[in-house]
Amino acid sequence: MKFRSTRGAAAVTLDQALLEGIAADGGLFVPETLPRFQLEDFAACETIAEVAELLLRPFFAGSALANELHAIVRETYSFPIPCKPFTTATQKAWLLELFHGPTAAFKDVGARFLAACLSRLNPTSGTPLTILVATSGDTGGAVAAAFDGRPGIQVVVLFPNGRVSARQQQQLTCWGDNVLSLSVDGAFDDCQALVKAAFVDDELCQRYRFSSANSINIGRLLPQSIYYAFTSLEHFRVTGRRPGFVVPTGNLGNGLACVMARDMGFPLGDIVLAVNENKLIANYLRDGNWLPADSVETLASAMDVGNPSNMERLRAMHGEADQLRRMLRAFAVTNDEIETEIQASNEEFGAAVCPHTATAIHVWRRLPPHERTAKDWILVSTAHAAKFDSVVEPLIGQQVPLPPELARILDRPSHETRIGPTLDALSRAMDHGLNS
Ligand SMILES: *Cc1c(COP(=O)(O)O)cnc(C)c1O
Repeated sequence: MKFRSTRGAAAVTLDQALLEGIAADGGLFVPETLPRFQLEDFAACETIAEVAELLLRPFFAGSALANELHAIVRETYSFPIPCKPFTTATQKAWLLELFHGPTAAFKDVGARFLAACLSRLNPTSGTPLTILVATSGDTGGAVAAAFDGRPGIQVVVLFPNGRVSARQQQQLTCWGDNVLSLSVDGAFDDCQALVKAAFVDDELCQRYRFSSANSINIGRLLPQSIYYAFTSLEHFRVTGRRPGFVVPTGNLGNGLACVMARDMGFPLGDIVLAVNENKLIANYLRDGNWLPADSVETLASAMDVGNPSNMERLRAMHGEADQLRRMLRAFAVTNDEIETEIQASNEEFGAAVCPHTATAIHVWRRLPPHERTAKDWILVSTAHAAKFDSVVEPLIGQQVPLPPELARILDRPSHETRIGPTLDALSRAMDHGLNS
């Protein structure tokens, strides 16, 4: 299988796409074709790792990692991803809990897969591989945790100063010598722009061997399709119905992974994206104008993205707003609605949910009543509420118990360097804090 650039550069192998992160012409890698599966193909699969191995096999055709796929998927899907009923006497949906990994957000899935692949592809002698990652809060922690202590690989995490929760910040800054944590004076979009600029800077590229671990890396996207494939298969086996999914969306990695699972033939019904006050995607689907803007700060901070990267992929794979509108919907949720939903979910459903998850629940509540009852809906829960304790606890008036993974991380010493939002500042921080 080859991967082409959204902007037309020559297609590359999976291994190159994983290592390079972004195409030479600045585009994003997408599979040249998507495999189509029949449900019977998975009849013998019981676990998510088994589904992952079969589903990912065609993507690994011709890869140096083909013989490692069995081990890679077992390393990746080593924590539970349960789909639990979310009900009251009169309402019924399911919550897909993606937050049982080491840093309590769904980003662990992609980060662990990428680390499992890159650590096998990368020679441990010679110039180390430098992974640059811009984060709105959760990606950086997941990537740092997945690569912490891996020989021959170093990680640079860029996060927006003052715009991540205290517990997220701890997860971004508590790692070993091969992780450099940079607090950038700016927004997530500035961090993302810096990473993109570093990748195409000749001088930096001579000194460092870069790769990316953002959801621009295809290695983040592919493993996220797996939980949609697995969950829809299980749901279909039990109920005979195709569940709809509501996906909290920022950079559109998780939403695109959901679309790809349906494209590959898995029994997913409607796909509905929930965005926060950064409404670009919802506006685009409504009136067809793609208008990237500065991101605004919201309570669902991991979704504060003003220019979602993966839209370039979605358009390259499926066309423009006219086509996309037929396969997807997107609705925006305000900060007030997030707060109300966190309270209501706790009171009605007895669930403490994070602000991102609350956007999906709220969008589900607002679906036309006949749609809510006629179809089955799986609401994607992207992070553990304890990660956003400062938002959630005052609203529900009680403490959210800390999951053990999170408790371990909070005990570690932390270190970070603060920089301005310029390539020059990034370059100096890297020269000071890394081996080239
Ligand atoms: C990253 C993140 C999102 C948004 O996911 P995208 O793939 O960027 O659309 C939603 N919720 C949480 C908790 C996240 O960390």
